[in-house]
Amino acid sequence: MKTWEKYIRRVEPYIPGEQPAGSDIIKLNTNENPYPPAPEVIRAGQELPMDRLSRYPDPEASILRKALAKHYGLSQEEIFVGVGSDDVLGMAFLTFFNSEKPILFPNITYSFYEVWAELFGIPYERPELTRDFHICTEDYKRENGGIVLANPNAPTSVFEPLLWIEEIVRANQDSVVIIDEAYIDFGGQSSRELLTRYDNLLVVQTFSKSRSLAGMRIGFGMGSRKLIKAMNDVKYSYNSYTMSQAALLMGEASVRADAYFQETTKRIMETREWLKAELRRLGFSFPDSMTNFLFITHEEIEAEKLFLWLKEQKIYVRYFRKPLLSEYLRVTIGAREDMEVFVAKVGEYMTSQKR
Ligand SMILES: *Cc1c(COP(=O)(O)O)cnc(C)c1O
Repeated sequence: MKTWEKYIRRVEPYIPGEQPAGSDIIKLNTNENPYPPAPEVIRAGQELPMDRLSRYPDPEASILRKALAKHYGLSQEEIFVGVGSDDVLGMAFLTFFNSEKPILFPNITYSFYEVWAELFGIPYERPELTRDFHICTEDYKRENGGIVLANPNAPTSVFEPLLWIEEIVRANQDSVVIIDEAYIDFGGQSSRELLTRYDNLLVVQTFSKSRSLAGMRIGFGMGSRKLIKAMNDVKYSYNSYTMSQAALLMGEASVRADAYFQETTKRIMETREWLKAELRRLGFSFPDSMTNFLFITHEEIEAEKLFLWLKEQKIYVRYFRKPLLSEYLRVTIGAREDMEVFVAKVGEYMTSQKR
């Protein structure tokens, strides 16, 4: 081994879902939105001022932060924006989790939390979820260097009531508590309303799921001025220009397009409720999702086999070959027509298994 190789930072990277090519694929594996971005967003993209691209974008990302601040009744100083919520969450880990005490997050949750903890050398502990995938608030009342919870959680789809979140934030006023709300727009109640009472709370959301903009990479954090200032100081020490001009303008247009946002999220929730009934009829069980995906299992079916068979049929869902998760499939709520094909195919598979 060469000397320089010894000094390479060793990391085990996060593994994102596959992005298969081809138009005949039904893609239900990465929780993307089946609908296109709002017409306002497409127009903003078509009208991008190309002559501006020789200039750096606004490092303060004011146009987007102002739009979000107005929309959520906060001030610009209470908003941080980043390249997807992964960027916002990574920056928050780097900024806030610097104590020798372990940070806390559940044993089943978004797997990126562990990756960042390893990357940044942050000690961590992972309290177990209950058998029906809920947190025990008592687990988050021990000494810690910070807390991060996805609410609703991934990949379980379970939403925890705001009362429980407040209980945890209240009990931990010496730590920063991050609530990752990637799926909050599909029926949950945001912790944002706790911000007026707690300056140690950071609420993180994304444009990737409910706003149909996974490809544009936009995420944001909401928190007290002190928290946001600290995150900006770290960001300006690393890369000042994280948000491209395109992301700023299209992001701003998306916040403006509220009617479209309401309509498309409502449609996804309707399809979700329809899919719940269909899958129950086929004997599947799943937590009562408040997200744009279902986390499904079946007593008589091996999840991995169904996953592989569906893939042959060009239907992609997500399978995690991991302890505790290996009997489940995570299925994104796509367009109604695609979900009808999905249900028909699953039915076909089950009939073929019985013979
Ligand atoms: C999708 C997702 C994210 C990251 O989304 P971005 O595309 O980076 O905004 C963060 N947390 C959870 C729980 C997610 O499911």
